[in-house]
Amino acid sequence: MSVLVVNSGSSSVKFELVDPDSGDSIAAGLVEQIGELQGRVVLDYRGETIEKRREIADHTVGLAVAFEILAGAGVELGADVTAVGHRVVHGGDVFHEPTLIDEKVLQQISDLSSLAPLHNPPNVLGIEVARRQLPNVPHVAVFDTAFFHSLPAAASTYAIDREIAKKHHIRRYGFHGTSHQYVSLRAAEFLGREDLNQIVLHLGNGASASAIESGIPIDTSMGLTPLEGLVMGTRCGDIDPGVVMHLRRSADMDVDAIDELLNRRSGLAGLTGVNDFRELGKRIDDGDADAVLAYEVYIHRLRKYIGAYMLALGRLDAIIFTAGVGENAAGVRADALANLRGFGIEIDPERNMMRSKEARVVSTEGSAVTVLVIPTNEELAIARAAQKLARTTTGV
Ligand code: ADP
Repeated sequence: MSVLVVNSGSSSVKFELVDPDSGDSIAAGLVEQIGELQGRVVLDYRGETIEKRREIADHTVGLAVAFEILAGAGVELGADVTAVGHRVVHGGDVFHEPTLIDEKVLQQISDLSSLAPLHNPPNVLGIEVARRQLPNVPHVAVFDTAFFHSLPAAASTYAIDREIAKKHHIRRYGFHGTSHQYVSLRAAEFLGREDLNQIVLHLGNGASASAIESGIPIDTSMGLTPLEGLVMGTRCGDIDPGVVMHLRRSADMDVDAIDELLNRRSGLAGLTGVNDFRELGKRIDDGDADAVLAYEVYIHRLRKYIGAYMLALGRLDAIIFTAGVGENAAGVRADALANLRGFGIEIDPERNMMRSKEARVVSTEGSAVTVLVIPTNEELAIARAAQKLARTTTGV
């Protein structure tokens, strides 16, 4: 028995077949460059990588190709799959938990597109195609925003005109919720404590921080959209909104051009031309001044959030690093928490340098705050949520 997890983005679809009970990944693949003449399909299955190049006109073709490559590798989707879990970016004020998809839900997700124009439309396409391909199993939407739906009003409210905010659903929603929830639960399990006050730092291409009190988030760095907060691969994170007005008036940029600038040509990419952290590291080693500055800006912002969330929590027990950069870049962990012994936070240099795919402690024995690296697994979290809902609603 397995759950197919689909993450349908604007030009790529990630898919993974997961055993939700054991947590094993059975097969994982990616369809990318959708809409291009030379699209790429990759599948990892039983230790082998199968790669194909062909034209992938749209998401319908993209997912059909994904199903084809799975079938070609011998994966019997029809027989094995008990549910499909779909990652959906924006659940707005409507969806607070994993939801069984029917026509009404699909329409509601589509209606939320004004809040996430880059994300919800491809999510909807992915759901439509997958439902046609696998019509006899439950399809479940798992929302990136859901974990943060109960943020205290003081943290979720923007200080702007109340009526306008209400009319246009403007508030802080938070994203990466599936990951923050998954790693914070793992941290509580790992340390054997339910009353854990923790700061979770999800540092991937996108990056976000959250403050979590006994499993309940009390603040997070992303807002109405995933643009707010930390410096990211291609997004600027926090910025004076005055910059937007200034660009509109002085640079004659329209809203789409500014959107593109702040979402795709900012952050590390904007400052250095590269968004990949490994490439940034190489440039720093080569003495590239832009790369050094970008790194300093990145760390400065991270420390600002850590400090703010320590105060928000009052008592801090654990700091969790996760996602591509958080799990792998020991230097980022060391610099983000350097010279904080006075605050009870001390990284152990040797533990921090050790590489492993397992959850692990990287702070010293004497550190009052335990610093952990916990690999995230959003696909498994989505698969488990989908299986749970499928079981309760259909008895599968
Ligand atoms: P996303 O899921 O948001 O696309 P990931 O969580 O996969 O992103 O993280 C991607 C980032 O992790 C990239 O910037 C990449 O350079 C970085 N990363 C991956 N492995 C390493 C590593 N060994 N050292 C430093 N950074 C790494």
